[in-house]
Amino acid sequence: MPIREQVSLKAFNTFGIDARAQRLFELATLDELPQALAALRQAPPALVLGGGSNLLFTGDPAGTVLRVALRGLRVVQADADEALVEAAAGEAWDPFVAWTLAQGLSGLENLALIPGSVGASPIQNIGAYGVEMAERFESLQAVSLADGRPHRFDAADCGFAYRDSTFKRAGRGAWLVLSVRFRLSTRWQPRLDYGDIRAELRAAGVTAPTPVDVARAVSAIRRRRLPDPARLGNAGSFFKNPLVPAALAARLKESEPDLPLYPLAAADGAVKLSAAWLIDRCGWKGHRDGDAGVSDAHALVLVNHGSASGAQVLALAQRIQDSVQQRFGVRLEPEPVIV
Ligand SMILES: Cc1cc2nc3c(=O)[nH]c(=O)nc-3n(C[C@H](O)[C@H](O)[C@H](O)COP(=O)(O)OP(=O)(O)OC[C@H]3O[C@@H](n4cnc5c(N)ncnc54)[C@H](O)[C@@H]3O)c2cc1C
Repeated sequence: MPIREQVSLKAFNTFGIDARAQRLFELATLDELPQALAALRQAPPALVLGGGSNLLFTGDPAGTVLRVALRGLRVVQADADEALVEAAAGEAWDPFVAWTLAQGLSGLENLALIPGSVGASPIQNIGAYGVEMAERFESLQAVSLADGRPHRFDAADCGFAYRDSTFKRAGRGAWLVLSVRFRLSTRWQPRLDYGDIRAELRAAGVTAPTPVDVARAVSAIRRRRLPDPARLGNAGSFFKNPLVPAALAARLKESEPDLPLYPLAAADGAVKLSAAWLIDRCGWKGHRDGDAGVSDAHALVLVNHGSASGAQVLALAQRIQDSVQQRFGVRLEPEPVIV
């Protein structure tokens, strides 16, 4: 029976928060979907759970947790230039990226080693090292959790933005993503200008990099920079990089000359600031409130040193938000979904 009661979610979220699901439905095949939807209707609300690497449990989730364990990878069609590939929502993201590279397909290599599932990748339009998932996305298949209606979403329906989408804005109980399709290339256009990718390749002695080399370089940088959730609970970046009006960015730069600014191409002239820099400047890196803390390697990563509760992590996050707002007049927005 795919449904269990009173299940600890500690192993199912990378923060390692010991929340408890009243009911947990493990969806392993599409044949079980009608049963899963019936279970959700019986005990709402629904929480769809992938790898649990982008959420913070601040208590026991009410209703039914639906853990997506659907598997399957396939090349849907291919020609000399590109291929359309499909992955079931429960496939783990990083092995999926490795599979695409093994098929000779490029486009996802900069997104190597991001934790979590394929089904969650459109929810916040995952991004790293100068690439966002939306650039490679073709469509996804989902069902409405309200009425079980199936729906295909094309890119234009998804409202992708920086760490955001229609799905994230709709709230966690609206849609269940079943599978995602990506359009990938056989003719590689490297994206090496972000961060330290070039330096990492040079250090590894790679002069003519392949997509696999880039995935390796990105993975090596990430392993050095980010705490491994298997050793220190975390959900990656806890805050989004704030987008602020150009006038505010210019004012801040006057008083903080080494503040990094990332002007965006958008017509409104918004400027992206580094949330990590703002937090670090307020002195939070390595800070600890009991078992809730800020990584000493990366100011943007909140960590659970052992037995922090989600409420303790959230309280620390709020103190950080307040201090950054007080000093810089910028309100940071959490990136993970707060449950
Ligand atoms: C060490 C570390 C590094 C990270 N680095 C990055 C990074 O570089 N870039 C980045 O963008 N993110 C990063 N993240 C965040 C996270 O890995 C991604 O957001 C990932 O896509 C979350 O996948 P998940 O399966 O764990 O989602 P979960 O945490 O399980 O869920 C996240 C949200 O998506 C919803 N959801 C999950 N699956 C489905 C589905 N099938 N259908 C509908 N809704 C669904 C959930 O309800 C929830 O609202 C990092 C996290 C960690 C721990």
